[in-house]
Amino acid sequence: MPPERFYDVAVIGAGPAGLAAAVAASDAGARVTLVEREERPGGILKQCVHDGFGLIRFGEKLSGPEYAYRYLRLAAERELPILTQTFLLALERDAEGYRLRLQNSRQGVFELCAAAVVWAAGCRERTARQVFIHGDRPAGIFTAGMVQYMVNVQGYLPTRRCIILGSGDIGLIMARRLTLEGARVLGVFEIKPEPSGLMRNVVQCLHDFNIPLHLSSTVTRVHGPKRVEGVTVAAVDERLQPIPGTERTIACDALILSVGLIPENDLIESSGLPLDPRTGGPIVDQNLMSCREGLFCCGNALHVNDLVDYVSESGETAGRAAAAYVFTGRRQRELIAVKAGANLLSLVPQQLDRKSGGAVTFYFRSAHTLKNALLTISAGGQILKQKKYLVLRPPEMQRLVFEQAAIPHNAAELAFAITGGGGE
Ligand SMILES: Cc1cc2nc3c(=O)[nH]c(=O)nc-3n(C[C@H](O)[C@H](O)[C@H](O)COP(=O)(O)OP(=O)(O)OC[C@H]3O[C@@H](n4cnc5c(N)ncnc54)[C@H](O)[C@@H]3O)c2cc1C
Repeated sequence: MPPERFYDVAVIGAGPAGLAAAVAASDAGARVTLVEREERPGGILKQCVHDGFGLIRFGEKLSGPEYAYRYLRLAAERELPILTQTFLLALERDAEGYRLRLQNSRQGVFELCAAAVVWAAGCRERTARQVFIHGDRPAGIFTAGMVQYMVNVQGYLPTRRCIILGSGDIGLIMARRLTLEGARVLGVFEIKPEPSGLMRNVVQCLHDFNIPLHLSSTVTRVHGPKRVEGVTVAAVDERLQPIPGTERTIACDALILSVGLIPENDLIESSGLPLDPRTGGPIVDQNLMSCREGLFCCGNALHVNDLVDYVSESGETAGRAAAAYVFTGRRQRELIAVKAGANLLSLVPQQLDRKSGGAVTFYFRSAHTLKNALLTISAGGQILKQKKYLVLRPPEMQRLVFEQAAIPHNAAELAFAITGGGGE
């Protein structure tokens, strides 16, 4: 089947990352197309009706749809084509760039080509199958994002009395939302000794609504052959194993899971692209180009972000760099690895292209709470930059700008380390 069209840059996913990438690539002169599997662009923001988005980017507290609208307007002003309800089935590299096999109900299966691709497919939620809970598999076990979609988009209230397992941000936000809609959230149970969501969400969504947060606790059993009738909860020890004798059963009609997000990378991973086990996203340089020439990645597909403002920032970086890659032609990169120390949960980018000068924006999370932390970037034992933090917490992603000029010419790799005292 001959390819229908050739673009400079194809962006996969029209969430905030993809929209920002498409706008930036277009502003850099590229002919861009956006591919989106859903009916409307905007990504997950469409179902996030609460405010708090855009404080860094726009200096305003916007709701998710309002934030998405700002970028949709920019895309409309540039008349960027958005192929909605179109699913990317396969991505193949050829001599010209990339061949995309797509499917929608209008054209069936069809192809288009692009010199560069920006992968901005977001992330998905961990489901009940990925957390080991004994008992039946009745109706009434939902992920927090699914409940968010049902309540905020479809207008259904899927529970009257529920338990939330996991203290991720979406679960915390839904604890508040369900309470406002008249449901009773009986408690949030978190297996770790610290909440995994942002502290501001713990305060504003749980404390302000008197919803109890049980740390070092988990759900061990689900009851109810057809519909959830209750769950058994228990305290856990330091190895996260349930402590015998601490079990109690709580009557409820739903169990809501907020147990983590997974970058949506199956399609590019199956083509052999190496992923970073810490982030679940591709290994990239500071231009967010992956190990495959011309394939860029941004937003939650790259690593799970805490603020949408950083998602848009990474989209802009990837979109601009994809356009530059197309216009300046292919060139050999001079890559050095950035080694993340043991206290780091995630670090992006994982490598630097020495031929692209200028400042590098690092995003990182600590693996556990560290007080009076010291971040050190060094090369060959020589300290290049240090920064102190009063406290670093895993839920709070950090952003750090680093001047590449500081790196010695003969450096083989960069070491990125954090040290500090234990948690509170
Ligand atoms: C369920 C859920 C709920 C969330 N709720 C909140 C919240 O309440 N507050 C908050 O601050 N943050 C929330 N987040 C975080 C939020 O995802 C980010 O802030 C932001 O939306 C990430 O932007 P993105 O563009 O990287 O991904 P997304 O917004 O997820 O956009 C990715 C887009 O790619 C499309 N796509 C994926 N694969 C393909 C394919 N093969 N072909 C075509 N299109 C494809 C998807 O349909 C989607 O539109 C939530 C995340 C999830 C997963």
